Amino acid sequence: TVRVRFAPSPTGPLHIGGVRTALFNYLFAKKHGGTFVLRVEDTDQKRFVEGAEDYIVNAMNWLDIPFDESPNKGGDFGPYRQSERKHLYKQYADQLITEGKAYYAFDTSEQLDAHRKDHEAKGKTFIYNWHNREKGRLVNSLVLSEAETKAKIDAGEDYVMRFKSPQDETLHLKDIIRGDISIDTNVLDDKVLFKSDGMPTYHLANIVDDHLMEISHVIRGEEWLPSLALHHQLYSAFSWQAPQFAHLPLIMNPTGKGKLSKRHASKLGIPVFPLEWINAEGETSMGYKEEGYFTEAVLNFLAFLGWNPGTEQEIFSLEELISAFDLLKVNKAGARFDPDKTKWFNHHYMQKQSNKDLAHAFKNANPNLSDIDDNYVELVVKLIKERATFISDFWNLSHFFFKSPTVYDEKASKKAIKVGTKELMLELIDVLQGANDSSKDALQNTVKGWITSKDIGFGKVMMPLRLALVGALQGPDVFDIMFMIGKAESIKRVQNLIE
Ligand code: GLU
Repeated sequence: TVRVRFAPSPTGPLHIGGVRTALFNYLFAKKHGGTFVLRVEDTDQKRFVEGAEDYIVNAMNWLDIPFDESPNKGGDFGPYRQSERKHLYKQYADQLITEGKAYYAFDTSEQLDAHRKDHEAKGKTFIYNWHNREKGRLVNSLVLSEAETKAKIDAGEDYVMRFKSPQDETLHLKDIIRGDISIDTNVLDDKVLFKSDGMPTYHLANIVDDHLMEISHVIRGEEWLPSLALHHQLYSAFSWQAPQFAHLPLIMNPTGKGKLSKRHASKLGIPVFPLEWINAEGETSMGYKEEGYFTEAVLNFLAFLGWNPGTEQEIFSLEELISAFDLLKVNKAGARFDPDKTKWFNHHYMQKQSNKDLAHAFKNANPNLSDIDDNYVELVVKLIKERATFISDFWNLSHFFFKSPTVYDEKASKKAIKVGTKELMLELIDVLQGANDSSKDALQNTVKGWITSKDIGFGKVMMPLRLALVGALQGPDVFDIMFMIGKAESIKRVQNLIE
């Protein structure tokens, strides 16, 4: 059975890369009838940020990809916060010590720094492993006898437990997306597994929990690929069956160069967070939800960050994503983040929303519309939504349906108002007054018939007429506008223009 987990550290809002990881886990789980677990990796107290866990849960709920098991929901494999599982980890570190697969080390950070500098001076990188152990450089670790080690611990000295990385071995690792990977163990560090403050490191806690929670597939970002060798070794050290791994490609800046940064995205006016985040200093970072993106649009664009179905189809509902999703179709190469594409998706999903829902949202966002009839707002929405990406675009696209223009665009005026315009508009007023009904067709036939009979260019009338109605040379069909605001109001606006 498929069990996957999203394992964020609650250190702040979820970056778009994290959401993509969550989505791919969700899609994979649902495709295989599996379970999607939230495990909160909060062992690093220094980086813990209040509110981050709630943020993660809220973001997933907004995206409509809820967890099956989580700290709030519970499940058979809880607790789901590592801080509540603290008591579990030490025994596993102890087990590796007993079996000689891990050891205590007492190096101070000054000593480690000195080693690092020493290596740098020779143009080498310091690796904490057999090489330095053998050479006796790491005098505070393996070379100590059992009694000396115990004495130091009893004396309350700070220690760490390190994994004992083997010498001269080649590891053969597998990744669903990347295929076979070979690693020379001589380049690996003896990573810290447990610290004397009673806390496991990410590596130990992550492996123990994936095992105890019976995780079948670990799907996570490429930044964790360098940890794969250690994780693989830890599974062997415990004689546990390792889950399968899939490392998702990095998300790159729109230029394709470098990882997507918050700074770069905000320069382009695009959020990197699903929901708005206000930090401890009170600074707000924008979120997709508050910027007016539809959930479906965000899901659709996230799905394409590193995956594609191998067909031309670009629009996918969540259901369709679940059935089309395949880890084997995830790319190795970095996925370029394209802000225009995100907007394109939003525009698309805007057209799919019902006019009623959009009208409702439009009214909610504009208190000045609260007295306007719902049906009228719905008709307006129908006429303008094709030009809108966000609901926040609606007012600019439609204000003339609700109130007379108070200013006329300067450039447009120059273009539309010529010698003779005033006379033409006066005549137009008469013609409109003569129209026997106010349907769009009647208005259109009357005005167009009159223009044709005068044998003048349409623009001579239509441009100033549009300017009078809208205040600019933009907007939907002139006769749609006239029909909506009515004959009398249309005449009044033409009068206003020439006064
Ligand atoms: N806690 C890690 C993170 O914040 C989890 C990495 C993993 O999925 O193994 O990304």
